Amino acid sequence: MKFFIETYGCQMNIADSELIASILIEAGHQEVEQIEKADLLIFNTCSVRAHAENRVLGRIQSEKSRKKTNPSLKIGVVGCMAQRIGKELIEENTDIDFVLGVDQYQNLPEIIQEIDNKQYLLDLDSHQIYKGIQPSYHSDYCAYITIMRGCNNFCSYCIVPYVRGRERSRPWQDIVQETIFAGKQGRKDVTLLGQNVNSYLHSDVNFPSLLRKLNEVDEIYRLRFITSHPKDLSDELIEVMAISAKVCEHIHLPIQSGNNKILQAMNRKYTVEHYLELINKLRNYIPNIAITTDIMTGFPGETESDFRQTLKVLEEIGFDDAFCYKFSPRSGTVAANLPHQISEQERLERLQRMIDLQRNITLKKNRNQIGQTVEIYVESFSKKSTDKVCGKTRDFKMAVLSGTQKDFGTLQKVEVKDATASTLICF
Ligand code: SF4
Repeated sequence: MKFFIETYGCQMNIADSELIASILIEAGHQEVEQIEKADLLIFNTCSVRAHAENRVLGRIQSEKSRKKTNPSLKIGVVGCMAQRIGKELIEENTDIDFVLGVDQYQNLPEIIQEIDNKQYLLDLDSHQIYKGIQPSYHSDYCAYITIMRGCNNFCSYCIVPYVRGRERSRPWQDIVQETIFAGKQGRKDVTLLGQNVNSYLHSDVNFPSLLRKLNEVDEIYRLRFITSHPKDLSDELIEVMAISAKVCEHIHLPIQSGNNKILQAMNRKYTVEHYLELINKLRNYIPNIAITTDIMTGFPGETESDFRQTLKVLEEIGFDDAFCYKFSPRSGTVAANLPHQISEQERLERLQRMIDLQRNITLKKNRNQIGQTVEIYVESFSKKSTDKVCGKTRDFKMAVLSGTQKDFGTLQKVEVKDATASTLICF
């Protein structure tokens, strides 16, 4: 079959779509780049916020109607939303051919073979680590490599542990092999993925030891990782980051709130003071490190004064960038049933204030780099012009420079001439 995968949500889902593509290609199916050419359409979904789910539901409705003109079109829903509300989805939508919970993707070829006979519904496979499967990467120059799956943390607002199951780490030998393979294929910039990479553990190899091993892989130029949990960020990891040449000077460290009462209600298991200590350590060991974060507003019980504390911490730390978002109650999580829920209007208003503040901080940080020489790993043409190319600096800033296609996959050192809140201009 000709298949098209529409992916929602985080980098883990992007990497999962690459796995799904690889499994289907191996079974003789063909991936297409235009949805109109597909006779198998797979929605790889996200459940983290209600908005993400609503978008997918809308898309399924509009694609379902195409079945009238193309009766052979098959539709499947996979991923976190499929896991969370799969039964309802399949009961309410007879046009959906299969719904697969998280990590059931190895069953796809078999299901597709029998797809005309019945609707399929499979629940999470909580042990799956996809041993021996090489993802079909979508970028020719970068690779996302999943090192662990699932999460044990149960932050009170988060649906992930319920839909993705408990933590399981891939064997370190497989990760090293996949990194060498990605590098040999020209994917020199590797990002290690996991819900909480800091708690990676396989045999006696923990996350810092894994980084040490990957730093020795000659085939790649750069290593990054997402996401880190502050409660598991050890001194050992910071030291390894500081001395490993390939590990980039960037960490994404979700703070979520700048108020201890809210952090406790979120079950985050650290305090603002501990988080600030980590920032100090990181900046002491790696003076030019860029720090980015996730930060939420509108958690149940958050008062105006709690929120102002969060804004104060944002200013005090001066993150290079932040993913600001508002609380979205997820049925089945502890926070969805907490008293003192904040109104949608208030959540939106606080979110806007947070975004405005962070945008100014990011702009200032980027403008501070004007005049500095940065190293860019070139990945593609710039969106606006074909004589300009773009890529990431070591500290995870998007940068645009003069260049041609022959620069793709190379490292370029250039001076920053100007900066916006989203881009360093290097021409
Ligand atoms: S660490 Fe917390 S926020 Fe992150 S996936 Fe696990 S439960 Fe969700």
